[in-house]
Amino acid sequence: MRSNRIITKKQGFDKDSLRLNETLFCNANGYIGVRGTLEEGVPNSISTMRGMYLGGVYETIPMKQAESLCNLIEKKQTMLNVADTQTIFLEINGVVFDMQSTDADCTRILNMDEGCTERVLSWKDSDSNGYKASIKRVAHFGCPNLFTIEYRVKAMESTADISFDSRHIADVKNYSDPDDPRLAAESEAYLVVQKSEVTEDRSLIITKTKVSGITIASAVGHRFYIVENGTKREITGSGNMAEQLRDGEISRKFSVHLEKGQEAVLVKYTIFADSVRENDPYTKSMKLLAEMMNRDLSELYKEQKDVLTDFWQRADMEIQGDDELDLAMCFNMYQLFQSSPRASKVSIAAKGLSGEGYEGHYFWDTEMYALPFFILTDTHLARRILSFRYETLDKARENAKLLGHKGGALYPWRTITGEECSGYFPSGTAAYHINGAISNAIISYYLATGDEEYILSEGEEMLIEIARLWLDTGNYDREGRFVINEVTGPDEYTCMTDNNFYTNCCAANGMKWAVKLLRELEDKDEIKKLIKRLNVSEDEIEKIKKAADHIYLPYDEKFGISPQDDSFLQKPVWDLKNTPREEFPLLLHYHPLHLYRYQVCKQADTVLAHFLYPESADKKTMEKSFRYYEKITTHDSSLSTCVFSMQASRLGLYDEAEKYFGDSAKLDLYNRHGNSGDGVHTANMGGAYMAIVYGFAGIRISEDGLSIDPFLPKSFQGYSFNFCYRGRRIRLEVGKDMMKLCLLDGEGLEFSHNGDKYSLNEIGVTLSWNIKQ
Ligand code: BGC
Repeated sequence: MRSNRIITKKQGFDKDSLRLNETLFCNANGYIGVRGTLEEGVPNSISTMRGMYLGGVYETIPMKQAESLCNLIEKKQTMLNVADTQTIFLEINGVVFDMQSTDADCTRILNMDEGCTERVLSWKDSDSNGYKASIKRVAHFGCPNLFTIEYRVKAMESTADISFDSRHIADVKNYSDPDDPRLAAESEAYLVVQKSEVTEDRSLIITKTKVSGITIASAVGHRFYIVENGTKREITGSGNMAEQLRDGEISRKFSVHLEKGQEAVLVKYTIFADSVRENDPYTKSMKLLAEMMNRDLSELYKEQKDVLTDFWQRADMEIQGDDELDLAMCFNMYQLFQSSPRASKVSIAAKGLSGEGYEGHYFWDTEMYALPFFILTDTHLARRILSFRYETLDKARENAKLLGHKGGALYPWRTITGEECSGYFPSGTAAYHINGAISNAIISYYLATGDEEYILSEGEEMLIEIARLWLDTGNYDREGRFVINEVTGPDEYTCMTDNNFYTNCCAANGMKWAVKLLRELEDKDEIKKLIKRLNVSEDEIEKIKKAADHIYLPYDEKFGISPQDDSFLQKPVWDLKNTPREEFPLLLHYHPLHLYRYQVCKQADTVLAHFLYPESADKKTMEKSFRYYEKITTHDSSLSTCVFSMQASRLGLYDEAEKYFGDSAKLDLYNRHGNSGDGVHTANMGGAYMAIVYGFAGIRISEDGLSIDPFLPKSFQGYSFNFCYRGRRIRLEVGKDMMKLCLLDGEGLEFSHNGDKYSLNEIGVTLSWNIKQ
């Protein structure tokens, strides 16, 4: 396994890439997320999104509806910017350091093998005395409540009086941009300081949100050292003075006189704990802080590295022939890992924990786009991610009732706690296909892991409630077809339509599996109890089965394609060729109603249905559909090109597969959509992974087992990756004309390639096959 997953950016102070770097160099561990902002801050005139976030911690705020129609939501949740513990001012000989005026040389490093970021600086003061500094930040996986900053400064050519002013600030606001629907419009201070306490070497601030009533404890401690010739000596006592600047802002100063060549090192430990998960966040944070400060930093770093080594052993992927792409894929996988939850009541947000875009909400992005990566690399995390939907099943049941359904569960389009947070229901709540993403995720997880216990304890209950919802939403038309009207599919430029092909496919598949698993497992006690508890009758099971069998999947004879919905093909085609570049994304330039009246797609819709549900159309229909939708899709959503790539691979359109993939994999690292400064595009990162694994490598996990039918894209010299399948770890390598497979651990397995069955039985033995180009 290689060990060079490092991103380095050498750049002085550049205000234009500041926000982007804050995203790229963010530290997160599934609980804490810290934007890669500068410790010393930037002048107010420069745009920055300074933030520290906690997964699943939110404030409830009013949702302003233009008209108070029945049962529209009146409040929503928003992710919080919690107490800022990243602020540290450095003063040298009485002058406060800042990047801009010192014109410091700066290298920013993201080390994905060690799980840390670093800012390495060197500069000269007005007397031409040189200094070097490095600031290392870690959001620890071993203790997800812990974030550390190690700030080192060295006097290179002279003596120097060094002073650090390290702050702990609870007076923070969320970022907002009223002109961009993808960001929060309102910026408020959501935290009220309950307690602000300074002890000998620690500080603690307890805050509480005004409406959701969540208590957040932030405990901060420091250690201060002087280093000479590699020997480290701790400075205690007088070098350490604390002051309450005001309620909720604590400053602690550390001063030392350095001789030439000496180095001052400040280590800042932050522990966060919250009342969503802890009964007593105060005690928890103080206890953990004491524990962590007692451990040597090098030990904590080693623990972090071990977690990453284990992660890369499972998720290792390499692309030969395109170094940029190779690094971009490492970055994508690393960000997915940083975003994945390690506690209850939290899931993966559209921007992970890297920024405030989409207010920290969880969408279908999690199950449809991010989860497959975890299913194939870390089944424990995959199950953890799935559990969030089980934890919020009751809320989904309530949501269904609110929408007028007699029963079943309707998952919210966007949420933090499980309640609906989308204000504009035509491209929010009406996207019932979120239910399809969840049932599809349950089934995919089961097929890839064989985890029957999960189905018995959580999965089947959700499948039944989702199936009930479909049954209650659809009806039989005059021709006896089960139809689903007034829903919105994935393409948000077409809303509230009848028989969205994708949604109908999701419904049929979800209903089919709900019944299938119920039948297969009906002898199990858990299922017997479930049937009783949910009051599932034989009649209801038959109704679900019948609806699945009779679902209406539209087909257009004239074009030989699957139409996106009943009215889609009646509309005029949007003239994409003559739409000026600056009018994209269209959603920022056209009224939604205008967009709805055209054949123009924001993102993959029917193409995704064809990929996920190969039985939904024959190959010819899929090919024609691909070509048709290709011409009218803007890919204004980052969830789109990866799907086109996967489906192109499936259809054998290898050049197209490569073309679409190239765009999606580099999106964040190279800021291709220009908005990565708001946070990473988590779904797209998972999508790029799927484009390689499900697309190029042709991995398919179905009821028939595992099949592997790869090809080598022209611009690659080769590619390889490890993946999990039913308790085994397998390595696939693809080169020119050949593929190699090796069973890394677990029992022997059967798989199919090119329609033939093969087996792989011995651990560590690599077998090869010729492949088509
Ligand atoms: C897309 C949705 C997606 C959301 C969050 C929107 O632009 O159209 O499909 O769920 O972004 O990523």
